[in-house]
Amino acid sequence: MKAAVLNEVGQPLRMEDVPKPEAGEGEVLVKVEASGVCHSDLHLADGDWPDAIARRVKPTILGHEVVGTVEALGPNVNGVQAGDRVGIGWLCETCGHCYPCREGDENICLDRAVTGIEIQGGYAEYFKAKATHVVKVPGGLDPVQAAPLFCAGVTVYGAIQKADPQPGEKVAVFGVGGLGHLAVQLVKNTGAETIAIDVADDKLELARSLGADLTLKSGNAAEELQAMGGVHAAIVTAAAKPAYDAAFRSLRKKGKLIIVGLPKEDLTFFADDVVMGQFLITGSAVGTRDDIRAVLDLAAQGKVRCQTETARLEDINDIFDRLRRGEVTGRVVLTF
Ligand code: NAD
Ligand code: ZN
Ligand code: ZN
Repeated sequence: MKAAVLNEVGQPLRMEDVPKPEAGEGEVLVKVEASGVCHSDLHLADGDWPDAIARRVKPTILGHEVVGTVEALGPNVNGVQAGDRVGIGWLCETCGHCYPCREGDENICLDRAVTGIEIQGGYAEYFKAKATHVVKVPGGLDPVQAAPLFCAGVTVYGAIQKADPQPGEKVAVFGVGGLGHLAVQLVKNTGAETIAIDVADDKLELARSLGADLTLKSGNAAEELQAMGGVHAAIVTAAAKPAYDAAFRSLRKKGKLIIVGLPKEDLTFFADDVVMGQFLITGSAVGTRDDIRAVLDLAAQGKVRCQTETARLEDINDIFDRLRRGEVTGRVVLTF
């Protein structure tokens, strides 16, 4: 099969013919229809995350927003049939018995495997996965629409649950990219006043078209938000430390800062500011399989819609370049 393969970090992915996987015990073989290009794949390809890179299967097929149809079943597969349309997200294995799994937080399982790191991902014509960890795509939801929900969609869904916005509260989304433009819609659905911040005008235009009540160019966004009394929650989806600095400075007393985007630099906050603001700072990691089902259902009901642009697998390095330069609006989805 054709795959875009990461051989060496810092090098472009290479188009290669690799063996088509075979479904083993408890696994399904899926013919890929749509594969979203997440900024996390770019972090991996660029070597931003040394720990993850050290764990990867080599050579690596990235891609963790994957949707396709089940072509074959290995032995002992229950609940999935040939022909089903399914997807896989960031987590392709969780243990089910560690304490986060037991407490309902399988997204932070102690013994997990990540699609496109430990297990080959979806920048290829086929992938195989544990039948227990694929999630069925609701009928009527287009595969191109569904794929980005397996990471971008579920991640912001989880982040917004942590922000827990109440109607009328102010929630700022910093970064209106693949994740952020979905966050804008999901925040708006809660009845909160939805504020979108980005460095790029076209992203702000997209945010307005998706229902943002206010859009601000980063720069003096924090000062503008403080002049309005500050925000109840700031959800940062930008992979940029300046976005965190601004988000932190935009909080009202007892405001929540939700960490989603992953800049390379450490984040820094003065203890005294956190104390005097009584801020709550929390991270949010993708989501559970139930969270994926919930966000897929919202999309099937038309309550969230991904702005997509389709491309071919061969275009992956150009898409990475555009992502590096912040030139992708919404999500690019590879189609096969
Ligand atoms: P993207 O490139 O599509 O979007 C990033 C957006 O941030 C762009 O619109 C860009 O213009 C904007 N931006 C850049 N600098 C900014 C600044 N200073 N202020 C405001 N906006 C700014 O990326 P994406 O696919 O949406 O991913 C975003 C980040 O989220 C990445 O770091 C990715 O690794 C991370 N991520 C985290 C999780 C998680 O579980 N926490 C899951 C998926 C992705
Ligand atoms: Zn992702
Ligand atoms: Zn576990």
